[in-house]
Amino acid sequence: MAIKQLLKRTSGWLYLNSSVGRQQLHGAGVILMLHRVLADDNAANLPHRNELCVGPKAFEHLLGWLKKHFDCVPLMDILQPGSLRSERPKVALTFDDGWRDNAVNAYPLLQKYQVPASIFLSTDFIGSRQRFWWESIGETLWNSHGEKARAHLIECLQQLGRPLPVLCDDPDAQRRSLALLHFLQALKTLSPQDLNHLTDACPQESLPQALDWHQVRSLEASGLIRFGPHGASHAILTGLDDQTLDEELSRSRQALLNGCNRPLPVYCYPNGDNDERVRQHVADHDFPFALGTGTGIYRGANDPLALPRFGVSQRTARNPDLLSWRIYRGARP
Ligand SMILES: [Zn+2]
Repeated sequence: MAIKQLLKRTSGWLYLNSSVGRQQLHGAGVILMLHRVLADDNAANLPHRNELCVGPKAFEHLLGWLKKHFDCVPLMDILQPGSLRSERPKVALTFDDGWRDNAVNAYPLLQKYQVPASIFLSTDFIGSRQRFWWESIGETLWNSHGEKARAHLIECLQQLGRPLPVLCDDPDAQRRSLALLHFLQALKTLSPQDLNHLTDACPQESLPQALDWHQVRSLEASGLIRFGPHGASHAILTGLDDQTLDEELSRSRQALLNGCNRPLPVYCYPNGDNDERVRQHVADHDFPFALGTGTGIYRGANDPLALPRFGVSQRTARNPDLLSWRIYRGARP
């Protein structure tokens, strides 16, 4: 495993530092997908947080690396490039969901390195105390809110026929966190009602999880950040009937129009899930572009309603050569 990682890192490094790599990436755009930037790297290192969270040190390391190899540009510079073509490949940062830590932990570093970013909001959560189920359930089961809250949630899970696996009580933190990750992934098959019920059984945190509209407006006023919609309720769009899908799209679009000065003409599918019907509805709601989660490099010829992105985890932020290895895989014809 360690040797495989080393090979990936070495080929990633070689790729970005070779003429072949530079040629393949010439005029191309790379869109990165992030979610949360936590206050602490140790917290982000755990497997059940690793995919969606990066720590501040890892994030800063990533930003320095990006500045060295890419032109860090606003998303629209990739989607609607001007006449100025740069020698260097372009990269744009995107953040999904609208986490409060984007303002508290990510923004100061984006400002320090002058790296623009786009944040895609699940608009029902903005300015409310509504919570993302995987965060509330995951952290309650991780015992971040105390033994009593954890025991209560385990009881509710049992009633729904989802008993907590014994590995989630393993004394080893890495193994326990990995078991929790797999358990949370399996919960995705529960109905939205059941997931809401479980989230309600978790204790409230002192601060809301999501940004509020005041934060959104001040980030936008900085000129470095722009916003777009990522669903209203974060429902998976492919699972909605036509009417609910249209409600979800217009509610999120309207919230952005009310809350921002210049919302992006880009939709971002919750979970990345989209199909032909969803793409048609998104186009009907006046979005010429939409972001999925399929990986690849943007060269202008892609379907503008299923744009590829590369996800950034704590592991790749700490070792960006792993990211360039993935870009290399995505760049190959
Ligand atoms: Zn999301």
